[in-house]
Amino acid sequence: MSLSLVPDRLYAAYTDITPQMLQSWGIRLLLCDLDYTLAPRSVKRPDGQVLSWVNGMKAAGIEVMILSNNRSSVRVETFCKDMGITYVGHAGKPAKRGYREAMAKAGVSAKETAMLGDKLLTDVLGAKRSGVLALMVEPLGGPVGAWNHVLHALQAPFKAMAKENYL
Ligand SMILES: [Mg+2]
Repeated sequence: MSLSLVPDRLYAAYTDITPQMLQSWGIRLLLCDLDYTLAPRSVKRPDGQVLSWVNGMKAAGIEVMILSNNRSSVRVETFCKDMGITYVGHAGKPAKRGYREAMAKAGVSAKETAMLGDKLLTDVLGAKRSGVLALMVEPLGGPVGAWNHVLHALQAPFKAMAKENYL
């Protein structure tokens, strides 16, 4: 188990992640955070870009699942229904249980799983604790509100470390 807060890879946006890339790493399950990762919080339905990205993953045999701490399951359900995928809600990231539940659902191991998210203390930390590949993106639409600006400033040094290590 690793308690690292340094993501394994850092990208500008989810669209930078391709099925070919994931296949080359042996990934069969891609867990995705929803808010600020696949859509800004203000966006209520998935747009054409995210739908075609998810379809591209599916076509390559990579299962996509939402792993969300969202308090309201309505938002997550709406997105998943439109995208034709399932989710683990109230995941309690960075706890390991949501990651485990998702992997059991998909029937894959931690080595075959990646987590994509925008936050170190939930998405990345939970991924590292669970032994899954931690992919981080910049918040989609930019940080919103004072707290998110502070949070993203705090994340900067860890992102710099990820860049040093991998880019
Ligand atoms: Mg998020």
